Amino acid sequence: MREKILIVGAGFAGMWAALSAARLADKHQQPIEITVIAPQPELRVRPRFYENHVQTLVAPLQPLFDVTGITFLSGTVTQLLVQSKEVSWTDTEGKTHLLGYDRLVLASGSQVNRERVAGAAQHAFDLDQLESAAVLEQHLKDLAHKPECEARNTVVVCGGGFTGIEMALELPGRLRDILGADAKTRVVVVERGTQPGARWSQELRDVIAEASADLGVEWLMNAEVESVDASGVTLKNGQTLASQTVIWTVGVQANRLTAQIDAPRDRQGRLHVNEHLQVVGHDDIYATGDVAYAATDDKGNHALMTCQHAILLGKFAGNNAAASLLNVEPFPYRQEMYVTCLDLGAWGAVYTEGWDQQVKLTRAEAKKLKLSITSELIYPPKAERAAAFEMADPYAPFV
Ligand SMILES: Cc1cc2nc3c(=O)[nH]c(=O)nc-3n(C[C@H](O)[C@H](O)[C@H](O)COP(=O)(O)OP(=O)(O)OC[C@H]3O[C@@H](n4cnc5c(N)ncnc54)[C@H](O)[C@@H]3O)c2cc1C
Repeated sequence: MREKILIVGAGFAGMWAALSAARLADKHQQPIEITVIAPQPELRVRPRFYENHVQTLVAPLQPLFDVTGITFLSGTVTQLLVQSKEVSWTDTEGKTHLLGYDRLVLASGSQVNRERVAGAAQHAFDLDQLESAAVLEQHLKDLAHKPECEARNTVVVCGGGFTGIEMALELPGRLRDILGADAKTRVVVVERGTQPGARWSQELRDVIAEASADLGVEWLMNAEVESVDASGVTLKNGQTLASQTVIWTVGVQANRLTAQIDAPRDRQGRLHVNEHLQVVGHDDIYATGDVAYAATDDKGNHALMTCQHAILLGKFAGNNAAASLLNVEPFPYRQEMYVTCLDLGAWGAVYTEGWDQQVKLTRAEAKKLKLSITSELIYPPKAERAAAFEMADPYAPFV
């Protein structure tokens, strides 16, 4: 009987894990049954969810899985039965099934947590998942049909991390298109830190501050949200911001399935993994992408919840899960290079290299690079077996 690798999730990490496992089995001419379970056979391009036309930001995966011999099951995993090496999953018709595995690759991603602050779950929007980003997009369009007032014209973005910045700096242009060039629109980023991007390099902070000033995006610093309601935001210091559009971007947590494995997890719920991406204490379970807390080098850096890390983590996890069944040496996960490319709306973009974020490109040059990353580099390979396997090699050139 063929041995089985089961992959939970078809995001960046899950897709590449499946391809990488299939590649290694193909290379050693030893068949392994590789199955991916996820709600849809499509890659949802989350890094672009601050853009317009969010429903189009998906790429089909079934043709790619077909040519590479990967089985796809449409459904949701609800329980990890670690002792019996099975998962319980629910298909699209609501039927529950059990599926066994020899190796499990958990690649179920992350989600923003809007429960942290009173009223945010009911009254705030987010751009974390396709469905919620589509609701936000429709809401923004609908503002055009609402009576003109300060609250209609004001958008409050809670959190000045990368997601908050990309969303906020995109908004002046989007609001102009929706409400007209003469509307007195206001975009405010509420950030509890002392300055925009307090954790980043001074160079990067300067660029963000310049772009924000250019586009008229305001930053409210040392500001913590106390509650959100239908009229807007109340801060901990009592200040209120009247707004019909509050966008929540902070508090991203690893997918809840991680809590079903008895293993150490970090603050964001990510499972600690060894250099082969096996969950600590569970040699037959690999964690990858946003659910993995993985060292990227020997200098103390760890993978972030980014697509850049998820892609490579996925390739290593899939390769190593297959290697353990084929009795070949696994590859230690290493990702020394870290870059950021941040969209800054109509101002352009900024591209940095290194964990110390040295600014290498800004404005139009960086924007060109950003577009090539988000509309080409991170998309799935073509549905061609040899080409897909070549790219799925963990040591294939990447950023
Ligand atoms: C608005 C936004 C902007 C971002 N910008 C950037 C950026 O500029 N650069 C960057 O590098 N990263 C960016 N990111 C982060 C990046 O999108 C994530 O790090 C990346 O998607 C993680 O990949 P993943 O495969 O681990 O998870 P995901 O891409 O989230 O995929 C998870 C998969 O698991 C499936 N799944 C979840 N639960 C279950 C279950 N119970 N059963 C079965 N399947 C399940 C999902 O349906 C999905 O298929 C951004 C994210 C957001 C939301």
